[in-house]
Amino acid sequence: MEFGDRKAKAEKMFGLMDEFLKNDPVSLQKDILDHVEYTVARSRFSFDDFEAYQALSHSVRDRLIERWHDTHQYFKKKDPKRLYFLSLEFLMGRSLSNSVINLGIRDQYADALNQLGFDFEVLAEQEGDAALGNGGLARLSACQMDSLATLNYPAWGYGLRYQYGLFRQIILDGFQLEQPDYWLNFGNPWEIERVHVSYPVKFYGTVEDEGLNGEKMKVWIPGETVEAVAYDNPLPGYDTRNAINLRLWAAKPSGQYDMESYNTGDYISAVVDRQKAETISNVLYPDDRSYQGKELRLKQQYFFVSASLQDIIRRFKDSHDNFDDFPDKVALQINDTHPSIAIAEVMRVLIDEEHLSWNKAWDIACKIFSFTTHSVQPEGLEKIPVDLLGNVLPRHLQIIYDINYNFMEELKKKIGQDYDRLSRMSIIEEGGVKSIRMANLSIACCHTVNGVSRVHLELLKMRVFKDFYELWPQKFQYKTNGVTQRRWMVVSNPNLCSLISKWLGTESWIRNIDLLAGLQQYASDPDLQYEWEMAKKVNKMRLAEYIETLSGVKVSIDAMFDVQIKRIHEYKRQLLNILGIIHRYDCIKNMEKSDRRRVVPRVCIIGGKAAPGYDIAKKIIKLCHAVAETINNDADIRDLLKLVFIPDYNVSVAELVIPGSDLSQHISTAGHEASGTGSMKFLMNGCLLLATYDGATIEITEEIGADNMFLFGAKVNDVPALRKKGAELKAPLQFARVVRMVRDGYFGFKDYFKSLCDTVEDGKDFYLLGYDFASYLEAQAAADRAFVDKEKWTRMSILSTAGSGKFSSDRTIEEYAKETWGIEPCKCPF
Ligand code: PLP
Repeated sequence: MEFGDRKAKAEKMFGLMDEFLKNDPVSLQKDILDHVEYTVARSRFSFDDFEAYQALSHSVRDRLIERWHDTHQYFKKKDPKRLYFLSLEFLMGRSLSNSVINLGIRDQYADALNQLGFDFEVLAEQEGDAALGNGGLARLSACQMDSLATLNYPAWGYGLRYQYGLFRQIILDGFQLEQPDYWLNFGNPWEIERVHVSYPVKFYGTVEDEGLNGEKMKVWIPGETVEAVAYDNPLPGYDTRNAINLRLWAAKPSGQYDMESYNTGDYISAVVDRQKAETISNVLYPDDRSYQGKELRLKQQYFFVSASLQDIIRRFKDSHDNFDDFPDKVALQINDTHPSIAIAEVMRVLIDEEHLSWNKAWDIACKIFSFTTHSVQPEGLEKIPVDLLGNVLPRHLQIIYDINYNFMEELKKKIGQDYDRLSRMSIIEEGGVKSIRMANLSIACCHTVNGVSRVHLELLKMRVFKDFYELWPQKFQYKTNGVTQRRWMVVSNPNLCSLISKWLGTESWIRNIDLLAGLQQYASDPDLQYEWEMAKKVNKMRLAEYIETLSGVKVSIDAMFDVQIKRIHEYKRQLLNILGIIHRYDCIKNMEKSDRRRVVPRVCIIGGKAAPGYDIAKKIIKLCHAVAETINNDADIRDLLKLVFIPDYNVSVAELVIPGSDLSQHISTAGHEASGTGSMKFLMNGCLLLATYDGATIEITEEIGADNMFLFGAKVNDVPALRKKGAELKAPLQFARVVRMVRDGYFGFKDYFKSLCDTVEDGKDFYLLGYDFASYLEAQAAADRAFVDKEKWTRMSILSTAGSGKFSSDRTIEEYAKETWGIEPCKCPF
């Protein structure tokens, strides 16, 4: 078709369309009912809440799609440098409430639904979580996408569309059981399947030398090809027309048939083999700290990286003839080492398929990639056995060897023949199982290596990547993590938000969070204090109802709600919390009745998932239940102390629990939490922190002042020396006593808890629970004293929110955009 014809046709089609979708109540109602009838295929006279939710979501999605199309057209026209954010995990949670808030049409929808006899909140509860990630790292990716959209950056997210997200945690008799997360069983209205956007991804096979125009070329003959099909998830920014894309890949059998197996007549086996291809994107690995060179894991990594790069290069080539401009148009962010195979893949594509020279390809790779690491310990870094990589991706192994050869040669020129250091820095680890060190590959190539808090960067410089830092100090930076106030305040705590907007006289803080500092001046104002307390009360009532429904335990909202929700890990020290609760219980039991009046009532809330193979973490969950059973059923204790475990912690549970908390615990052994982001969400919601000097907490202290927190414990630089003391480091008597209670079977399951108790015996207490116990109890006592002084507590709470501005992901993203990615906003006109 000639250009003129096409233009005329487009104009005719545009003439047939209404303008953009309207947001008045009648239009919204009509749209919802149309979706009931034509999308959900139910009669508009008879549909239930779930069907109403589906129709509602489709109607919101229509509005999202309009903006998303406009944004992409605009990006296409402007052709700015784009950021591609590669992450194997995105913990998005629910989409409905966040979307309507960012689109600025929440109230309109609530009114429209009201008139139809539905309640927006009730329908929003129908949505399941998209849990395509484990914890902090994955939720961070989700927060960063929200900020990228809101700040109008030309960005794309790329990841995997797992059929099963993070397992559901079921508690049976106090033990964790894992159940698959069938999150797609009821459909997912937020995604758009792009059947025509698909790419073949190759695995296995051999590499052969071939001549091309007199030059030797490497040709990879794959042994298996799997198709990657795109599923797009439009993500709206707040108060902007921009909506960006999160493209997730699903594996489908390839259409390229293996004629031989079909011809041999074994039709059924041939089809079944094809079907196996789909397993690549089936399931998320549920361990958030260690990945032991599993074949499926490597295939997942390469699958999403290869498809994403094919997509990125295709988009680039649509408007560019050669690769000279590639680094000016493309920034590739590697979120932890999970996508690091992208470095070898870019080299392969540029050399083998685009026929660039090695030097040119390497120059491009070094300019486009940046890397953020979330690791704190050298042992935690990802390694892939050479045999495995060579089998699954034979050409990539050759390329990695070549990268390493060049790197080692360059290094020798700089540091001479220091073989110990050369072997520490080599991308190839020799030894029992020869492996590829994915972090070393990333550092060798990426122009920037980012830590996620200031102290994390120090640890990277001094311990984890010391050799690399000494070689390339300029590569190392940090961007303290942040979270999005849209989801973590506006969606989850509307009461508090309207109060803040009223006192600040503006809603602009939702976009420009530094304005929250304006609350400081009113922190002692009795009127604000009263309203602040009321907002907290309402949130606590909601949480108390939830707890009662879940566990049957009735809790008093006058008690302090003391919360620790996060993945269960020895380093996060839920055990320290539980031992502290046992101590509190023991003290109350041994108190004169008359003294009990002075006890500050507490509801201790713990929640989090343990990796399925992490035995000690699972024992911690069981111990929590066993202790809860004893305390909650002790009539002598009444409302003075309650302990509840909230099962299946996920984003939507966090949205409910965080606003209703008074105190939250972030008590990792110093030097073990790279940043921590849960703390930031509590802070924004006016919840006081009881914390160690670790990760981003150190920077939180600087922002809100140590007086407004309850800090305790060894500092990062003390920990190595303390560990060296071994058995000399004696735990205090109170600690020995509570551990003994567990050992002696006070809470039952004596044999089962033995190995758990062993981890904190003198000399074996790696995470220093015993050492920190006394100062932990002091911090807890300080929290009790502050809680009874309502004026003081509320002031501290207001000052926490007021000082939380730095911990918005908007700030993090601005820093990345300027200092790492070199991208500029590209705001789509309304
Ligand atoms: N898991 C979920 C569901 C979260 O929402 C968050 C952060 O809020 C995390 C894990 C990480 O929490 P933390 O940084 O406290 O470990």
